[in-house]
Amino acid sequence: MHPILQQLAAAAADPAGTAKAWKKATGGKVVGSFPMHFPAEAVHAAGALPVILQENDEPITVGHASIYPFFCGYTRSLVDQAVKDELDYVDAIMFGDHCVQVLSAADMIRVRKPEMKVHFYQLIASLKDAWSEDNALSVLRRLTTALEQTLNVTITEDSLRNSIALFNENRQLIRHLYAQRREGSIKLSSMEMQHIVKSSMIMDKATHNELIKQLTNDLQGTGDKHVGRIPVYLSGHLCQAPKIEVLAMIEECGAYVVDDDLYHGWRYVSTDVDDTSDPLRALARWYIDRNWNAPCPTRLDPKSDWDEWLLNASRNSGAMGMIVLMAKFCEPHYFQYPRIKKTFESNGVPHLLVETEHELVAGGNIRTRVESFVEMIKRQSEKSLAASA
Ligand code: SF4
Repeated sequence: MHPILQQLAAAAADPAGTAKAWKKATGGKVVGSFPMHFPAEAVHAAGALPVILQENDEPITVGHASIYPFFCGYTRSLVDQAVKDELDYVDAIMFGDHCVQVLSAADMIRVRKPEMKVHFYQLIASLKDAWSEDNALSVLRRLTTALEQTLNVTITEDSLRNSIALFNENRQLIRHLYAQRREGSIKLSSMEMQHIVKSSMIMDKATHNELIKQLTNDLQGTGDKHVGRIPVYLSGHLCQAPKIEVLAMIEECGAYVVDDDLYHGWRYVSTDVDDTSDPLRALARWYIDRNWNAPCPTRLDPKSDWDEWLLNASRNSGAMGMIVLMAKFCEPHYFQYPRIKKTFESNGVPHLLVETEHELVAGGNIRTRVESFVEMIKRQSEKSLAASA
C-alpha cells in the first residue's frame, strides 16, 4: 500500500491516538460528534479539532449494561467506549440527532458519564417545509453560541468562512479521486477509499488536504481499467464504516466497487458549502440541499427518493449491480429498503442485500452469497453479449 494510504489507514484505525497526538502537538481541544449531519466546520472555526466518533472493532462488554442489545452496532459501540473511559480525550460531544437510537446512546453517555459535556441539537428532520431552512439556521446559531461558551472563544464570520473553504477543498479533492477511480485512471480499492474518507473525519483538515494532494499525484497512471472484474455499486451503512474485511471480501469475490453512497464514502463528501455568503446560512442550506446529492433515509424529503436516486447513481457509475450493506437494527435503513428492493427489481438491476453487525465475521455465508451474486451477473452479461453478437 502507498505510504500515505498507510498513514491514513493508521489514523482511521485509531481516532483516539490521532486526536491525542493532535492535542499534544497543538494544545487545542477536541470536540467529538456523532455522524451524518453535524457541521464540523463550526468546530474547526472555533480552533478545536472536530472528530466524528467511530464504532470500533472491540467486543461490546460493559456497555451492554447500559444499552439494549437490539440497538445498532454504532450506538452500542459508542456507549461501550464511553463507559470504558475510551472517549475521555474529547472535551465535549456535540451532535445533531438523526434517529432514536443515537438519541438514546447520547442519553446513556450522559447518565454514565455525568462529567462529560454532551450537547444535543435537533436539526429539523423535515427538509422541504417553508420553514426548514430558517429552523436549521436557528439551531446552528444556538450550536455555535454553545461552542463559543464551551471552548471560551469567539467564532467570527471570517473564521467560519475560512473553515468552510478548507472543508470544501477536502471534499473536492476526495471527489476528484472518486471520479478518477470511476473512469479507471487510478487504482483505489474500496478499503483504501474508506481509509481516505474515514481519516478525513478524524485528522486535521489542512494536513489531510496536503496528503490527499500528494496521493492524487502519486496515483496517476495506476489504473488497470479493472479488466475481468464486475463493477458494483455499494450502498447503505449509514453511521458506521463497513468492516474493511467485508470490503476486501467483496473485491476478492471478483467485483470491484466503482462508486458508493456510504457515509464513510461519497455521502460524506457529496456537497460543498457556499463559502461566499453568510456562513451560518450557507451551512443551513448545505444541510437542506445535500439531500439532493445523497438522499438520507433519516431525513424527510418528499421530493427526493433514495431508491430512484440510487438506481440512477448506480447506472451512471457503470455498475452492473448493487450491493446493499445494511447495519443490523438500523431502523431508518430498514424502513427504506423495501422501496429500494422493489425499484431495483422492477428495473431488472441485480442487487444483493448483506446485513452486517458489530460482531460480524466476513466469511462463510456472506462470501458465498457475494460470490454467487458476482457469478450471476457475469453469466447474465455473457448471455446478453452472445445474444447481441
Ligand atoms: S441511523 Fe442507523 S446506524 Fe445510525 S445510529 Fe441510527 S440506527 Fe444506528
